[in-house]
Amino acid sequence: MSEWISVAEIFGENVFNDAVMQERLPKKTYKELKKTIEEGKELQAATADVIAHEMKEWAIEKGATHYSHWFQPLTGATAEKHDSFISAPKSDGKILMEFSGKELIKGEPDASSFPSGGLRSTFEARGYTAWDCTSPAFVKKSPDGKRSILYIPTAFCSYTGEALDQKTPLLRSMEAINKQSIRLLRLFGNTTSQKVTPSVGVEQEYFLVDRDKYLKREDLIFAGRTLFGAPAPKGQELEDHYFGTIRERIGSFMKDLNIELWKLGVTAKTQHNEVAPAQHELAPVFDTTNVAVDHNQLTMEVMKKVADKHGLVCLLHEKPFEGINGSGKHNNWSMITDTGVNILDPGKTPAENTQFLIFLTAVIKAVDEYADVLRISVASAGNDHRLGANEAPPAVVSVFLGDELTEVLKSIENDEYFAGSRAVQMDIGAKVLPHFVKDNTDRNRTSPFAFTGNKFEFRMLGSEASVANPNIILNTAVAECVHQFAEQLKDVPEDKMEDAIHELIKKTIIDHKRVIFNGNGYTDEWIEEATKRGLFNLKSTPDALPQWIADKNIELFTKYHIFTKEEIESRYEIWLESYSKILNIESNTMVEMVQKDFLPSVFAYIDKVAATAVAKKSVVSDVSTASEGKLIKELSQLADEISTGLETLKADTAKALATEDPLANAKAYQTVVLSDMDELRKSVDAAKLYQAEVLEDMEELRKSADEAETLIPDDLLPYPTYDKLLFSV
Ligand code: ADP
Ligand code: MG
Repeated sequence: MSEWISVAEIFGENVFNDAVMQERLPKKTYKELKKTIEEGKELQAATADVIAHEMKEWAIEKGATHYSHWFQPLTGATAEKHDSFISAPKSDGKILMEFSGKELIKGEPDASSFPSGGLRSTFEARGYTAWDCTSPAFVKKSPDGKRSILYIPTAFCSYTGEALDQKTPLLRSMEAINKQSIRLLRLFGNTTSQKVTPSVGVEQEYFLVDRDKYLKREDLIFAGRTLFGAPAPKGQELEDHYFGTIRERIGSFMKDLNIELWKLGVTAKTQHNEVAPAQHELAPVFDTTNVAVDHNQLTMEVMKKVADKHGLVCLLHEKPFEGINGSGKHNNWSMITDTGVNILDPGKTPAENTQFLIFLTAVIKAVDEYADVLRISVASAGNDHRLGANEAPPAVVSVFLGDELTEVLKSIENDEYFAGSRAVQMDIGAKVLPHFVKDNTDRNRTSPFAFTGNKFEFRMLGSEASVANPNIILNTAVAECVHQFAEQLKDVPEDKMEDAIHELIKKTIIDHKRVIFNGNGYTDEWIEEATKRGLFNLKSTPDALPQWIADKNIELFTKYHIFTKEEIESRYEIWLESYSKILNIESNTMVEMVQKDFLPSVFAYIDKVAATAVAKKSVVSDVSTASEGKLIKELSQLADEISTGLETLKADTAKALATEDPLANAKAYQTVVLSDMDELRKSVDAAKLYQAEVLEDMEELRKSADEAETLIPDDLLPYPTYDKLLFSV
């Protein structure tokens, strides 16, 4: 039975997109809204009322009963609260379905339970959500199609206007890059572009495991990753999973996933199996940054829902399994003008494309000067397991340009003429295959920040985190460098401009070429070389985070009004705390699993083997029980090691936990600077302790447990092993 679907028809069917707005809104209203979307003009109350009414009518036709201001608090997930459209009953007891412009534009969720890092005390629980009209509203249906809710993308801030979310600073950073880029473009004589938008395409990796098996593993349930597990007999060594044939069950999951995403206007485009068994990837067509960020959040959410429908669970953790690759995201990024020009497209002759070269060098400078905050933008407890572990880029941020561009930059640096590389015909050897022109950049999968033809690919992101933060930081850092260029060129007379630009590019290359690296980023030699070049190597989250509050970074973010100093400090605190909390949960889960399930299963097996030996002896008195003896000895020794490891882990976790002062809550009210600093220091200490001791204890304990696991038969083990999890769907 094949069910035919028209993709063109279902695409965006649940989105209040431009086409729907054009069709349903009065011309004048539509025009006003477009002005707001494109130029940031303030929306009149009366216009908002008309839009709200039409949006509601449209949503009700789609079966919606409620609307929700959808926002992205600092938990990394999305948040929603539903309000029905019903009005207060009239005197006859009847209600109307209503939705006002005011309700569309502004919401007031109780903000007290979202992380704010001390920005807002609980007694000032008010927070506001404000409509982000540049990301379209949509109706989301429950998997059975019975519930529909209108979602309105919003930004979330405190009563006093501080950002409590990812969207607010993201929109601010997009404005910064727009403003600075337009200014620089004008100096080049570009008078037509009105807007520059950073574009983003996010490749998303994920694992799928069988739901019933997942439910037997507390570590997957509570920590999102396995805390134990001896490797399966087969891993990824045959490289047979990458781009391999997609199995039926997965194929049918992917089909449903695409349909659900298309309906929501998410341009799901590419899908394939990834390197690790049970690992897959999805990539959409790129979009404006804030839409791409919203769509990536939706993608992760829909992946989980659709998986559930198929008896699967979608794991988005960065390292669900030891010994095979974890999951990341690639953030493809460029800058595009409203006239449709991709500023990072070198064209056929990059050496002659000054505009491209100046923006390219601005990005290189930005990555070099703000490598620390870019590193921080991808820092999380989960991602720490991947970065630098030879499956993802190292923790050192560097730029890959490929041979041709590197040559172009070198010739500028040395004042030489660039002879140019002719388009090289690719000869694949077989006459029947088409011949095509070779890409001027080869791929380098080991680079954290790679130029890939007409965009940069930031490859350090973890699979689970929102992509907002990396883009906020990238946009702002580039905005600053573009600003500096514009400042240097603004008073140059026209006849001197060419030389001035040449000198500027040359100087920038000389100053920042240390960040360019085209070689293999996975090698120890590179890490050594990077240290020599003076590049940051911030290995873990607690190593990296203190750089967040370095003066130069506070200066950058406050200069462009991306974050206030208070917002910067609050984020610092939230991230540190979140790191410690995650490790605390992992440690607690491990302790519980070992204590309640794993050790008892080791003892049960020892009992069983001992009983076998005794039974054997009772039948044949001189029979050998050497193998049972050996196994019991081995298991007992491992059980001892596990018990000791368990005690150490418990003690160190308690120690780490205790560094969080019990008075911390009371102190949150204390606004004296000194006590704030003290708090921050404590969080840093706690995070460091978790990293240094708790994580190490967990690894130790895991070693003995994994060894014991290989000795115990499956039916005595309390949970499914790696081979069952990885090779059964
Ligand atoms: P690869 O695996 O080779 O990196 P994919 O096709 O999986 O390639 O992903 C490339 C991603 O880059 C896609 O999401 C694509 O839409 C996006 N992309 C392409 N051009 C741009 C651009 N100018 N700006 C941002 N993203 C882009
Ligand atoms: Mg890629």
